[in-house]
Amino acid sequence: MNVIVAKNAGFCWGVKRAVTLSRDAARKKGGRIYTYGPLIHNRSVIKRLEAEGVHVLPEHADAHAAGAATLIIRAHGVPPGDTQRLVDAGYDVIDGTCPHVVKIQKEVARAHKAGRTIVIVGDSDHAEVRGLLGFCGGKGIVVAGVDEIAAVPRDEPVTVVAQSTLDEETFAAVSHAVKNHCADAAIVDTRCNATAKTQREAIALCAQVDAIVIVGGRDSANTNRLAQLCREQGVRTFHVEEAGELRDSEFAGVATVGITAGSSTPDWLIAEVAERLRAMPPARALNTEH
Ligand code: SF4
Repeated sequence: MNVIVAKNAGFCWGVKRAVTLSRDAARKKGGRIYTYGPLIHNRSVIKRLEAEGVHVLPEHADAHAAGAATLIIRAHGVPPGDTQRLVDAGYDVIDGTCPHVVKIQKEVARAHKAGRTIVIVGDSDHAEVRGLLGFCGGKGIVVAGVDEIAAVPRDEPVTVVAQSTLDEETFAAVSHAVKNHCADAAIVDTRCNATAKTQREAIALCAQVDAIVIVGGRDSANTNRLAQLCREQGVRTFHVEEAGELRDSEFAGVATVGITAGSSTPDWLIAEVAERLRAMPPARALNTEH
């Protein structure tokens, strides 16, 4: 079977960087290696990292590093107070915060210092947003959508930023509403284009294939969104977590199949799926059987 793998399938560059930092630390540094919370929401990645000597330290664990211990901060970042607490607890802290998230943190800190109220458009439960709140002294206001902007003060200068993975429509709608609501509103579009790029690429790939396979966790929001977008293109879409879920019979008549993956899916899972699909019998042979 002819297989086309999307160029940007899988890890975004920020996640890739954090994983590389962790694996390098396990190879090169002595002592115990931890990540502050699970590095990524993908069980097979966590398992593989464990096997390489990278363990998960639960967030907010009141643990003191006994002896040499290295701790890696995740790509989504943490409030500055957490970093200091971990250094004080004796950890050798490696900052795996994605450079794009660092830019947002700096923007928030700068505006806060200038006396502006920070409005973060995003999910208040998300680690990145909790981290950003720490950069404005915990005084920022998180809004998920237009119906929550009543909480934004009308008579204070406000700066609006976005959680990096926020969609364009929500950010545009909230920004517009805040501008109408406040006398002094500065809008800073801090969205990252990694997710949008993968989605655009998946849509383009659908036009070239008979079927598409989306690789990633069933509880991964961005993977589910990819699958939904592909179904909307009218292409037969299979969402799998691993190669073992693929059945020859489901690909009867498929000459060319595309593969893409969510941003928490590692290269090795994508490669296994590609290998499994390439090994399937050609479309014509299967057509004859059925
Ligand atoms: S989605 Fe963008 S901002 Fe978030 S970790 Fe990936 S590259 Fe960084």
